[in-house]
Amino acid sequence: MMEQLQLGDQKILYDRERTQRAYAGMTSGDAEECGCSHCRNFAAQRSTAYPETFRRVLDQLGIDPAKEGEVYGCTADGSISAEG
Ligand SMILES: [Zn+2]
Repeated sequence: MMEQLQLGDQKILYDRERTQRAYAGMTSGDAEECGCSHCRNFAAQRSTAYPETFRRVLDQLGIDPAKEGEVYGCTADGSISAEG
């Protein structure tokens, strides 16, 4: 069932049950799939890395916070690091 979430000036249409099923079919997040030291470090801290408000939005949308699509590192100047 499609639902709607207004988040700031963004309108999000989503189907929580279908999203949950899609995530249930995934074996892991990108960090586990990569397996480099940066990603393993992220995965070890993932459960405490996201703010509670963000975790609530993910839960509302049906997104498994342990199964991110991509992980990459950024340097202090905002550029993307070569690893990760
Ligand atoms: Zn990696």
